[in-house]
Amino acid sequence: MAAGCREIILIKNGELALKGLNRGTFEDVLMKNIRRRLRGAGEFTLRKAQSTLYIEPKDDSADLEEACERISKVFGISAFSRALRVEKSMESILSAAGEYLRPQLEAARTFKVDARRSDKAFALTSPQICVAAGDRLLEQYPHLRVDVHQPELLVMVEIRDFGAYIHAAQLPGAGGMPVGTGGRAALLISGGIDSPVAGYMMAKRGIELTAVHFASPPYTSERAEEKVIALLRQVAAYAGRIEMRIVPFTHIQEEIRRGCPEELFTILMRRFMMRIADRVAQRENCAALITGESVGQVASQTLPALACTEAAATLPVLRPLIGMDKEEIIAVSRRIDTFEISIQPYEDCCTVFTPRHPRTRPRIEQVVEAEQALDGEALVEEAISGIRNRTID
Ligand code: ATP
Ligand code: MG
Repeated sequence: MAAGCREIILIKNGELALKGLNRGTFEDVLMKNIRRRLRGAGEFTLRKAQSTLYIEPKDDSADLEEACERISKVFGISAFSRALRVEKSMESILSAAGEYLRPQLEAARTFKVDARRSDKAFALTSPQICVAAGDRLLEQYPHLRVDVHQPELLVMVEIRDFGAYIHAAQLPGAGGMPVGTGGRAALLISGGIDSPVAGYMMAKRGIELTAVHFASPPYTSERAEEKVIALLRQVAAYAGRIEMRIVPFTHIQEEIRRGCPEELFTILMRRFMMRIADRVAQRENCAALITGESVGQVASQTLPALACTEAAATLPVLRPLIGMDKEEIIAVSRRIDTFEISIQPYEDCCTVFTPRHPRTRPRIEQVVEAEQALDGEALVEEAISGIRNRTID
């Protein structure tokens, strides 16, 4: 690459998924998230000018490939481009473009050059830039034809204030809202397929996650917990850092089994999860709970069962998967790389004590009465005092 040339990432205003939110807040949060997410991919300078975010490697040790991979998972960006910055002279542009876009130019049969000149001091007009660049590329790649209507390859040349930029197609961003613009919520995460997807979906709406996981050693193993951590790592690639709270749940499950009707076991257990998650959530400034529930998926997810579960929480319970079917949920989990982890066969606290005939239409009065057999408050307190913390980055 010629001196003065540098490959960078451009995110233009039209590529921000900005909707309904204050632009300043949106951009500030987005910049902070990008900066954090790029840690570990090298040193980058972030700059905002002319309605564009410029992400520029500070030196050659910065890994642009890795940076693009990470940027593609940052919510709030609908598209971005990898671009070559060159000096603002026609000669620099002409000599760099053919080389920089070689793979794309070789693969395409037709192309078109599009030019934007926001620096009006530049000697050539946009149409003149297009003609000059088009001619040079045709000389270098004689197999190409110009097609102004439906080119296979669109070559963009932009003359901006810090330099001239050459790029080809935009890359798809993750969409959504920057994480943090929607407040914080507590994700009840199991080792299953659904809850990681639920966390991803709410993070996409700008919500920061705190994860709450119920573990039942020795019925559930360390491996089962590691599996949940592995799932959260995948979610964190989108959601940013996640604080995880691991709640000891064995005693509660044993007490329910000992003192309550078997057919209500699952619903009572789910209510304890809600109560505890609700406490943890309030303590950690979360405004809602998130679960991976979906109507009708299992006995504890009928409408009457959901009503009983929900009654144990004070905060709103967000269920982003509520109307999705399993195939749709699995498609998302494959896309965000949680599926293969979720299907690893480790026991979950829910599967350990599953009743043979769970009640699918529990009545809340019945459920509350069955709970009277237990010292619920003491059990909740004990579980909360045994919480272990992890940070997932
Ligand atoms: P998942 O695939 O998320 O496990 P599921 O369809 O298997 O969901 P359940 O196991 O009944 O359904 O759980 C319903 C929801 O309750 C989960 O999506 C999750 O939000 C929460 N949950 C279940 N088990 C746990 C756990 N051990 N720790 C924290 N939350 C849990
Ligand atoms: Mg489950």
